[in-house]
Amino acid sequence: MRKLSFFLKPYKLPIFVALFLMLFELAVELIQPLLMAKIIDEGILQNDLRVVYLWGSVLVGVSILAFIGGIVNSFAASHVSQGFGFDVRKSLFEKVQSFSFTNLDKLSASSLITRLTGDVTVLQNTVFMGLRIMMRAPLLVIGGTVMALLVDAKLAFILLITIPVLIYFLFWVMGRAGKLFKDVQSRLDAVNGIMRENLNGIRLIKAFIRRDFEITKFRNAADRLKNKTAASLRLIETTLPILLLVMNISVIVILWFGSKQIITGDIKVGEVVAIVNYVTRITASFSVFSWLIMALSRAGASAGRINEVFSTHIDLLDMVNADPATEIKAGRVEFCNVSFQYPAAENHVLNHVSFVAEPGETVAILGGTGSGKTTLFHLIPRLYDADGGKVLIDGTDVRQFKIETLRKQIGVVPQEAHLFTGTVRENIAWGKGEATDDEIVIAATDAQIHGMVEKLPGQYETIVGQKGVNLSGGQKQRLSIARALVRKPKILLLDDSTSALDANTETNLLQALEKYLCTTFIITQKISTAKAADLILLLDDGQLIAKGSHEELLRSEGLYQRIYKSQFREEAL
Ligand code: ADP
Repeated sequence: MRKLSFFLKPYKLPIFVALFLMLFELAVELIQPLLMAKIIDEGILQNDLRVVYLWGSVLVGVSILAFIGGIVNSFAASHVSQGFGFDVRKSLFEKVQSFSFTNLDKLSASSLITRLTGDVTVLQNTVFMGLRIMMRAPLLVIGGTVMALLVDAKLAFILLITIPVLIYFLFWVMGRAGKLFKDVQSRLDAVNGIMRENLNGIRLIKAFIRRDFEITKFRNAADRLKNKTAASLRLIETTLPILLLVMNISVIVILWFGSKQIITGDIKVGEVVAIVNYVTRITASFSVFSWLIMALSRAGASAGRINEVFSTHIDLLDMVNADPATEIKAGRVEFCNVSFQYPAAENHVLNHVSFVAEPGETVAILGGTGSGKTTLFHLIPRLYDADGGKVLIDGTDVRQFKIETLRKQIGVVPQEAHLFTGTVRENIAWGKGEATDDEIVIAATDAQIHGMVEKLPGQYETIVGQKGVNLSGGQKQRLSIARALVRKPKILLLDDSTSALDANTETNLLQALEKYLCTTFIITQKISTAKAADLILLLDDGQLIAKGSHEELLRSEGLYQRIYKSQFREEAL
């Protein structure tokens, strides 16, 4: 939590105001028993109404002031905690945006969502409570003990023994509860993960009638969360009765000794009442303490999880010597003996892959699932860095480009078309913020989607995505192709992005792409698509087993010929 205190720096003034007012409330609370002792000993027992009225009015006056102070303190605490939460969330979001794919592989999306929402809220509430009451409870325990000792050191002596023991006990509980709450949060991650996956795949779940299976999976995760939370709460709940028991025994001891001393005249009634009053207030503060332990343990666990995101080392950054002026000019792509292994994987996914794609060429990549086609794509815009060999663009290692300059000139169409909630226009313009209307229409026309957009109820202003019109797989694919084309990329990467298009539309699309003068890579399963390519790369289990034109590959016996024959037979049939 100490590291996150950096985010409190901009709020020094309201923090100061809140803490000052909290101390004022505390002072009033500590002075109340003294005033009451005065009223009893000098007013009621002496039958002096003047004293009762005078000190009674002082008591009411300071109480009203403390009440107003409490309200202002709440305002200041809300201002600080809301601002703190906003700043932490914003910085976390910015950090996640700078994550590399490797970083994202390590921290799951659902865990990041819980950290950005739940964990930040936990800290936000802790800051609020911290400024409102958290400091008051420990200070009241200390202040109350000191005041009780000042009233009568002999009678209040028992507090010097019980209170340090109880404080030690509380710290012990806090340590244990912290660990338990960390587990609670990670189980919450698991529940969120299942929820997320379930909502994303709800159509599939219904189609496969897997409702009961999914419900059981969710119930098990929720059950694990419940059990861990219950265990944490049980620990907290048992601390309170122990605290109350010890404090109540202290009260009885004080009353017993106090009554004896009153008889011998060593102490006044009002003083005993004041000490008991202090002990009662200390006891009440200890009840707040048990809540406090829970809040602090939980906050500690959440702070740890948030810090983990902040301290994640971004492993894919611009090289120090990357030249901002280096841009993709022609779009020649060369893989020189490239090998790659995912950080968490045991084997290489790409092994010594070498090929050259000349500027403007179309390269088709074929291969079974898992053969490394998408991985090969990832290395071109530096979503991952190759472990061995080099990826060169126009003869320059991709690592020598500024990441932003490099990616700006590459159009990526992922395997699964993803639309953002917004209009068709916004979804296309997402590829290039400053795109004009004409550029958007041209990109849509080339992506073979313009005609369909014209038929939508609001044309380019139609809302699509989660809350909008539902588009078919092929329509989504074409919209994401338009999004890539609007950038006028020098290199275009189509990851099986024409799979949902009919042959005619696909031919028109490929023809339209010709005018873009970009080097185009197409991952495809279809020989008909590969046939038109200048170069075909055939991948098998991370090895580039064949490369050449359609005719060249057909001439040699091998996998390509077999795929061709099987597809050709299908077409003939
Ligand atoms: P293709 O596109 O040819 O189907 P991929 O390039 O997506 O294949 O994947 C190649 C291999 O790498 C597969 O075995 C896949 O399981 C593995 N893989 C893909 N992404 C990751 C990842 N982020 N972490 C670990 N392994 C991965």
